[in-house]
Amino acid sequence: MKYYSLNKKATKVSFKDAVIKGIAPDRGLYFPERIDPLPASFFDHIEELSNQEIAFNALYQFVSADISNAELRAILADMLDFNFPVVEVESNVASLELFHGPTMAFKDVGARFMANCLGLFSKNNDAEVTVLVATSGDTGGAVANGFLGVEGVKVVILYPSGKVSDIQERQLTTLGQNISALKVDGTFDDCQKMVKTAFLDKELLNAMQLTSANSINVARWLPQLLYFLFAYKQVKSKNKDIIFSVPSGNFGNICAGIVAQKLGMPVKHFIAATNKNNTVPEFMKTGVYNPKPSSATISNAMDVGDPSNFIRIRHLFQNDFDILSKNLSSYAFSDEETKLAMKYMFEEKHYIADPHGAVGYLGLKKYQKNHSDSYGIFLETAHPVKFLSIVEDTVSTKLAIPAQIEKVMHKKKRFLKISTYNEMKAFLLNN
Ligand SMILES: *Cc1c(COP(=O)(O)O)cnc(C)c1O
Repeated sequence: MKYYSLNKKATKVSFKDAVIKGIAPDRGLYFPERIDPLPASFFDHIEELSNQEIAFNALYQFVSADISNAELRAILADMLDFNFPVVEVESNVASLELFHGPTMAFKDVGARFMANCLGLFSKNNDAEVTVLVATSGDTGGAVANGFLGVEGVKVVILYPSGKVSDIQERQLTTLGQNISALKVDGTFDDCQKMVKTAFLDKELLNAMQLTSANSINVARWLPQLLYFLFAYKQVKSKNKDIIFSVPSGNFGNICAGIVAQKLGMPVKHFIAATNKNNTVPEFMKTGVYNPKPSSATISNAMDVGDPSNFIRIRHLFQNDFDILSKNLSSYAFSDEETKLAMKYMFEEKHYIADPHGAVGYLGLKKYQKNHSDSYGIFLETAHPVKFLSIVEDTVSTKLAIPAQIEKVMHKKKRFLKISTYNEMKAFLLNN
């Protein structure tokens, strides 16, 4: 399988080169040349398969030119050592809990897959790769954890000073080894700007092999399609139309879900739920794509004004607005609505959702007003404890701290404070 650039100017590359480069030389996102549907028998018998077998079948075509079967099996065994339960919250409404991994947000699976792939590729290459990544909170922890101790790979994480939660900061600053953290005097947009500038900086690119670890990278993005298959396996026996509501920021997760549909999984409809950063909901109303600067909300992992993966979604639906509209609905919700949903779920349904999951729940309920017989699944993308003070204040209850979080609470934070691009560049060149 080769990967082409959505800007159509760069040459096709292997999976390996797409992962190492991150983005094509023409600045386009890489996309698989083909998506071959899985045989009907796979879906007929999916409930008899383990998660690792499902993952092997689903990912094989995308990576098999560069990764042997034994290597793929080893990666999947390392990556999928926790559960992805579907928990029913009310009749025809269920939460797909993606927060049972080491950093308790759904990015763990993509980060572990990419770390394993890069580790493998740099072992056969002996060229060291530097992963440079900006985070608004969850990506940093998942990437730090996934890449810890991977030989031949160095990781540098940029995060905005004062804008990530204490738990999130601990997750990305306390590990050491091949992981470094730069605390930027600025916003998430400033961090992202520094990363983008680095990828255009000839002097840096000559000195090192730089790649990114956000969902632009195919190795971070594609494995997320597994969540939808794992959910399908659990709800198939309901024999209802299945719809997914995905709380969306950069739209990588929902885009991977649409790839699962292209693989042949029966899904009736997708809902992209956002906070007030409503670029895509507005596009679905007007047909005009008008990106905006991001604004801060209580679901901060979705504070994105120009979602990088939306172009992949449009491509999956032939860049045709009518086909897209038949398959995808998108709605935006305010922080007030989000908190009311969290309160309602806790008080009436005894379910504690985090702010991102609550946005997904709201999107689902809105769509189900006119499609009441469907079986709806919203993705619960982070453990409520990661947004401790908002959740505790909203539902007026105390949360227990899970072992994964307790582990980092007493470790010393280590970071370098920077405020300019040149300080970051000097760090990259001298470390
Ligand atoms: C990253 C993240 C999202 C958004 O996912 P995208 O793939 O960027 O749309 C939603 N919820 C949480 C908790 C996240 O960390």
